[in-house]
Amino acid sequence: MTEEHFKKIISHSKEFGFIFPSSEIYDGLSATYDYGQNGVELKNNIKKFWWRSMVQMHENIVGIDAAIFMHPNTWKASGHIDAFNDPLIDNKDSKKRYRADILIEDYILKIEGKIEKEIKKAKKRFGKDFNEKTFRETNPNVLRRERDKNDIKIKMDKAFNSEDLSAIYDLIIELEITCPVSGSKNWTNVRQFNLMFKTDLGSVSGESTSIFLRPETAQGIFVNYLNVQKTGRKKIPFGIAQIGKAFRNEIIARQFIFRMREFEQMEMQFFIKPGTQQKWYEHWKETRMKWHKSLGIPEDYLRFHDHVKLAHYADAACDIEFKFPFGFKEIEGIHSRTNFDLKQHEELSKKKIRYFDPEKNESYIPYVVETSIGLDRMFLALISYSLKEETLEDGTSRTVLALPFSLAPNKAAVLPLVKKDGLSEKAKEIFNNLKSICNCAYDEKDSIGKRYRRNDALGTPFCITVDYESIEDNSVTVRERDSMNQERIKISELSNFIDSKVNMNLLF
Ligand code: ATP
Repeated sequence: MTEEHFKKIISHSKEFGFIFPSSEIYDGLSATYDYGQNGVELKNNIKKFWWRSMVQMHENIVGIDAAIFMHPNTWKASGHIDAFNDPLIDNKDSKKRYRADILIEDYILKIEGKIEKEIKKAKKRFGKDFNEKTFRETNPNVLRRERDKNDIKIKMDKAFNSEDLSAIYDLIIELEITCPVSGSKNWTNVRQFNLMFKTDLGSVSGESTSIFLRPETAQGIFVNYLNVQKTGRKKIPFGIAQIGKAFRNEIIARQFIFRMREFEQMEMQFFIKPGTQQKWYEHWKETRMKWHKSLGIPEDYLRFHDHVKLAHYADAACDIEFKFPFGFKEIEGIHSRTNFDLKQHEELSKKKIRYFDPEKNESYIPYVVETSIGLDRMFLALISYSLKEETLEDGTSRTVLALPFSLAPNKAAVLPLVKKDGLSEKAKEIFNNLKSICNCAYDEKDSIGKRYRRNDALGTPFCITVDYESIEDNSVTVRERDSMNQERIKISELSNFIDSKVNMNLLF
């Protein structure tokens, strides 16, 4: 996937009503986006699939919907007031601000790009006889670059683990990293920057309290642990899931909906017995990777990345990374959070937040393994992977959004061949019957060929064409998006046919 493909994703998303820049009539607000009429359907379908996979399919997981505003002590307890910082650095010439860790990571990505280029060149040169593994292990250029990469990683991890801001600055200078805008190496020192948005609660002056927009949904789950455990009579191990907005004042928000200041998370906290965290961490790693693959994402688009630098609350953590057009990047985090959050809330609230184990007759603060996926990043991953430009047999081309059928905004489009001679009426009758089964569209504008193309670009799995014969034999032509195969189906069998192909249950 290339930079060009990424541009295509952005323009396609706008042209077909998936994503618009926010407040566009006022020239937009940086890194803020609105989901359009088709985007909201796809987004809701991703949420529905996640919710069903996590809550409905697990008898020991339930969901909640906590408020975005929370008591300010929440963020004191969670460590976000003291430690939710990013290291930032400014370029003095362009006046642009960057995250220091991302500047270094981008430098590493460039080295990786050079290695891949080397391999591609050799593949071309040696043809069928090329053995990538041996080449990687023996080629001096690849080995040198791998060594460089590892050296940088070691230095970077050491600097970040010890929060040594001057060592991070030194590394940027040593690597001669330049500002992508000005091209200069004229950097300020590295400083820490808190990512939480602050606002005031209350309208009477002098009586307001500063509160924060939540930077993660997880804390809404932690503060409700006891409520859910007691009212739901939950036995450990059990989980609480939540989907909702989170806000981070990202230093650089970029790459379309990949990094925004307002975004949505789908998180699940799994409460477990202390000492069993390794087992459950492995379990959720595997389960979540399977979830991504069940959406048809190929193996080579996904990988694990283990964290070397652990957040203040974690004893093990990894990311699931997806191959975006701009490289492998995090889409989901799986974190073994120990009992850090509940312990902190217990201390600050002075309320006992425990679990009483009736079998052992003892109580303890549960440990937690978390799965946390960004809904917007999942949306971008699906679009990046599904959007294809195909050359057809007759030499023409088409754009197709090959989404999993059950996630597509519309499952079917009902298209009368022409508007006259009763075909529209017949098509509307079919649309009205189908609409209770699934989201579908009715479209009578433009030639049938153009309507097929439009629906391919929207990802609609089936186009149902009503023609003159339909009036006689009560059948329609059903065209499938990916194969473009057409078959004649009786109108009376249409609902069952569509449902048997697009039902979300097929993904489980
Ligand atoms: P990054 O390193 O990319 O900043 P993170 O490690 O801080 O991400 P987490 O705190 O683990 O992210 O959040 C869980 C998930 O929330 C991420 O895997 C990602 O999908 C999503 N997410 C985090 N920050 C953003 C953002 N600014 N915009 C969109 N999604 C985000």
